[in-house]
Amino acid sequence: MARDPRYDVLFEPVRIGPVQAPNRFYQVPHCNGMGLLRPRMVAEMRGIKAEGGWGVVCTEYCSIHPSSDDLPQPYAALWNQADIKTHALMTEKVHEHGALAGVELWAGGSGAANLLTREVALGVGSMPNGDGHPFQTRAMDRKDIRNLRRWHREAALRAREAGFDIVYVYATHFYLLAQFLSPVHNQRSDEYGGSVKNRVRLVRELIEETRDAVGDTCAVAVRMAADDGTGTAEQPVSDDRREMFSILAELPDLWDINIHTYEHEMGVSRFVQEGSLEKTMHYVKSITSKPVVTVGRFTSPDTMVSQVRRGITDFIGAARPSIADPYLPRKIDAGRTEDIRECIGCNICYTGDSLGVPIRCTQNPTMGEEWRRGWHPERIQPKSSDATVLVVGAGPAGLEATRALGQRGYNVMLAEASTELGGRVAQECRLPGLAEWGRVVDYRVQQIQSMPNVDIFLDNHLSADDALSIGAQHIVVATGSKWRADGYGRYHSVPCPDLGPSEQVFTPNDIFEGRLPKGKALVFDDDHYYMGSVLAEALVAQGVEVCFVTPENLVSAWGVMTDEQYQVQQRLIELGVEIITAHGLDEFDGSNARLSCVYSERTREVAADAVVLVTTRIPVDDLYREIAGTIAADTSGSDPAPTVHKIGDCDAPAIIAAAVYAGHRYARELGTDMDQSDVVRQDKLFDPD
Ligand code: ADP
Ligand code: SF4
Repeated sequence: MARDPRYDVLFEPVRIGPVQAPNRFYQVPHCNGMGLLRPRMVAEMRGIKAEGGWGVVCTEYCSIHPSSDDLPQPYAALWNQADIKTHALMTEKVHEHGALAGVELWAGGSGAANLLTREVALGVGSMPNGDGHPFQTRAMDRKDIRNLRRWHREAALRAREAGFDIVYVYATHFYLLAQFLSPVHNQRSDEYGGSVKNRVRLVRELIEETRDAVGDTCAVAVRMAADDGTGTAEQPVSDDRREMFSILAELPDLWDINIHTYEHEMGVSRFVQEGSLEKTMHYVKSITSKPVVTVGRFTSPDTMVSQVRRGITDFIGAARPSIADPYLPRKIDAGRTEDIRECIGCNICYTGDSLGVPIRCTQNPTMGEEWRRGWHPERIQPKSSDATVLVVGAGPAGLEATRALGQRGYNVMLAEASTELGGRVAQECRLPGLAEWGRVVDYRVQQIQSMPNVDIFLDNHLSADDALSIGAQHIVVATGSKWRADGYGRYHSVPCPDLGPSEQVFTPNDIFEGRLPKGKALVFDDDHYYMGSVLAEALVAQGVEVCFVTPENLVSAWGVMTDEQYQVQQRLIELGVEIITAHGLDEFDGSNARLSCVYSERTREVAADAVVLVTTRIPVDDLYREIAGTIAADTSGSDPAPTVHKIGDCDAPAIIAAAVYAGHRYARELGTDMDQSDVVRQDKLFDPD
């Protein structure tokens, strides 16, 4: 299909100093949990982005010197000649597809704890470590500043040798250069502190020195926040920040603009909508003639065009949309916008960096597996037989298995007990703020519906006999899980016998089905991710008074990994929810709950009319066990028995990303030697050979 002419503007080439981007699709620097530890995995992943049409593809933050070390978060590094070879793996793959490669040179400041290198971190002053590690920075003296400038220049020269086309001066995200710019953090009394002119001096010097070193062949980009956190709600951008931009306006070849608050810049869709940086950063283009790139979780080509036409940005910057769909630009180009796998804004991708393990994505199960398993986001091997596959259950696992099996060319029958597709996602996306999660279902249903080899049977609750009588050669059971009503979980390692009258005990499944508590509800969250807090919010919206109890010290403690915990707790406080942390629910008698402190023997009573238990889930695997049992018991040997597998939550309840991954993996591996499937490639540390 031909491209919609409305989107032509997105495919115009754009000059960036000495280089030219082939189009306006720009994958901004983003971490991936692989970095310097797993260079081949990074190179393959970035190369596929270029193949998918991103005109510029950047690295993650790239340390210029061992005094900026962020392990266990795996950053990139250009410390010496050996690192050049590592990065060349990536630049070669990016160049193969005609894209430009960018590198974000990084100096950590108080954001670097240097747990690997054990160097003393350098700071604009003597500052506490930003991540809470018990270290402080050394306040940089003139010699330190001279050294930093030299390291930056040397790293820029290495970057050019590694094949990069765009070299960044990285002056945001609370790292060293942002701290020099800050009117709050920079309290120096020398020529690098005080006035705007002085605070901007180091960034200016680095721009000029980078240009001097590599500017004849490489573009120099600056990544900087449009605001500095000192503005007001009415006027988010301070005069101080505007003055900085006016001093630096024409110095770089490209401005990569974000905003001061990271939780907002890469906010989850529960709290932040597409294109939300605009109201803060829109002024930047008016003060520079240089091209501007910004992000906003853009997945709609109409929004992208609007951003360009209205003069907000020149490039459509993306991290997450390029993770969820590395082929997003090519799909727009080919007039296949309905095939875009839109990011749902869940930030599971960010957990890879938080945990120091390779990136994964809810929507794109191939993300992070491009090199290790050789998976491609758009291509899959054709079927290896004419077998028919029965998929039971249309949650994220069953839908993705169906989609990918259908793509391989298998005849697939998808049976779903309820009258709608989507399983848990169809239910959860109705909860406050989670509407975008419905894209997990929408994308897959859209794909499946256009496949003539896939048949969908709704309202079909299958028994084992039903499943076996269909005659499919392969049966995959994806029947999900149910939330437990007995309190079993991390706090109660056996079911709790004292949880009161069953009609006053609720689980998330009750709430999904519209069975709501009355009066005051105590939400006991022993799950620690989003479900407890989002249900609390849903109940408040229904007029239920809520007391939120967790054995953790934070509300939704695992939300730290997705960078949403702060906003979650803030939201519950704003809603007037009573929050009790570090307590477990021991007993409920129908009118009072007894809680125990997790640190002491102390107990307390809380009046409540109901408890909502968000603890753990029971796999719904009885169908699988019955089918497997029938097959095992059949000794007639008449017909070859079908294979049977269970996937997703009915195998092991987990996050949605795990269910999608399980469905995808099943589909990829059908007809292969599944026992060998866990033998995957391992990236060697620091060794690109
Ligand atoms: P997952 O996250 O593993 O995909 P979900 O709980 O989201 O699991 O989805 C499981 C789906 O399976 C639900 O939509 C449920 O209605 C369906 N299901 C459960 N048992 C049966 C059955 N016996 N026959 C058909 N569908 C079933
Ligand atoms: Fe988007 Fe979630 Fe994928 Fe991240 S993990 S790219 S937020 S869908």
